[in-house]
Parts: sequence; structure tokens; C-alpha cells
Amino acid sequence: MVVKIRVENVSFSYDSVKVLKDITFEVDNEILGIIGPNGSGKTTLLKCISSILKPRTGTIMLDNNELFTLNRKEIARSIGVVPQTASITFPLTVIDIVLMGRNPHKKRLEFETEKDIRIAENSLKATGIRHLANRLITELSGGELQKVIVARALAQEPKILLLDEPTAHLDINHQLEILEFIRNLNTEEKITVISVFHDLNLAARFCDKLILLNQGKIYSIGNIDEVLIAENIRNVYNVNVNIEQHPVTGRPNIILISHVNNEEKHVRT
Ligand code: ADP
Repeated sequence: MVVKIRVENVSFSYDSVKVLKDITFEVDNEILGIIGPNGSGKTTLLKCISSILKPRTGTIMLDNNELFTLNRKEIARSIGVVPQTASITFPLTVIDIVLMGRNPHKKRLEFETEKDIRIAENSLKATGIRHLANRLITELSGGELQKVIVARALAQEPKILLLDEPTAHLDINHQLEILEFIRNLNTEEKITVISVFHDLNLAARFCDKLILLNQGKIYSIGNIDEVLIAENIRNVYNVNVNIEQHPVTGRPNIILISHVNNEEKHVRT
């Protein structure tokens, strides 16, 4: 069953600094990419949607339920989170970590059932890391660890997956692999995906919709072709780009040309 998220007039401040301003959008069984320069509020927005941070104003609805009226376990049964950096310092095995994804479905101190173990093993298989099951988490490469965290989120059997730069630690082969896997989850399992992307071309290739954030506000929202236009990129990132249609994927392909210099800014404003 697809869960719809509606973010309405969400604002957030760290102390007195307003970092998110009046964010409104809706996601319904799509892959939504959040892009924007460093410091534009991408991670903060994702943390609000995952309930780690509580917005100062506004509401976040999961279907008909306000997110902050649900308890932790209820939220975790709907939302799986893959944070930007997962710091796990305990020397647990990979299978132990992935089994933690089953906690929202269990009572306190309840042992894992066969079903939990089967789901955890399927998550390992789906992410291509079954061979790592008994390895210590502290002895994995960044890319392997990233896949373990995705597997743990999958073991939650979430309806919504939130990812913060899921390919940050991966080489280009594994970037493609994990993003194709996430796209499959969306089409086959009907999981809604909201993901922060640093790389605009990867976002163009894998997302259905994009939100371009600038200084905590939505600068542009819509289909890939509507958001990824040279004028938007120039105004928000201060760079000149050419945008062509990728000959193979048919998606926009962004080619970096130059910084926008001060004279250009002056002429254009
Ligand atoms: P992005 O993910 O787009 O790089 P962030 O959401 O991480 O942006 O940060 C948005 C703004 O909030 C930045 O100016 C950042 O310095 C600030 N910020 C992020 N985390 C904190 C924090 N824990 N305390 C205070 N300010 C923060």
C-alpha cells in the first residue's frame, strides 16, 4: 500500500537561524530528488520528514496522520532512513545490524522470529551483500557499509525510503547499482523514495520529480525538465551550464561551463 506524504508550510530554525522556510510539497509513489547548494537545507528537510527534527511550524502528514502524533515504532514501520553518514562503532556483525531493522515490528525484548531472519536475509540478498553477513561492521569499506544501512532500512519493510546522498561513498559502478536497485524498489515494491542528491546528473537520471532548494526555500519544483534548466542552475549555484539531452537515457545532461562572474551577475540582475 502506497503512503502519501504531504509537507505543508514547514519551517525550521536551529536556534534563531531560519533554515527551512515555508516548504510545501506532496509525494505519492514517486522518486523525489532534493537538490540545492551546500547549506541550502536539504539534510534538515530530510531530518524533519524522518521526525529526527520537529519543524517550528507547519505539518507533515503520512496519509491522514500527522507525523508527530505517531510514536517512534509507528513511524519506523512506514519510514526507512539511510543517513548521510552512519557511524556504528560497536563491532556488531552485518546480519545483527540488518536485523535491527526488524525492531519496529517487534515487542520490547522479543526475540527474532524466523520471519524476521528471512526478511533480513532477503534484504542482504537484495542489496548484494549476503556474503558479508557475518563480517564485523567496523571492518567494512564505506561502500559496503552504505549497502548494509540500505539493507537495514529495507528490513523495516518501509513504505517510504529517505536517503541522504545514497551514493556518496560509492564508485561509479556501485552508484549505478544502488540507484537502479532503488528505482526497482519504487516500481516493483511501490516504495516512495525521497533522496538528497549532490550530483545533478544522477538526480536527472533517477528521479521522477525534483525540488531545488535555495537558502531554505523551494526555488523550483516539478518534473526533471522543468527544474533542471540552465537559468535555475545559474541563479542557485552561480555556475553557467549547458543542458543537453543525454543520448542514451534521454534525460537532461548538465555540462559545467564556468562560474558566474560578478559582472555577469550585475548585468543579469
Ligand atoms: P544541506 O544539506 O543543503 O547542505 P543542511 O540542512 O545541512 O544543508 O544545513 C542548512 C543550514 O543549517 C546550514 O547553514 C547549516 O550550517 C545549518 N545547520 C545544519 N545543522 C545544524 C546544527 N545542528 N546546528 C546549527 N546549524 C545547523
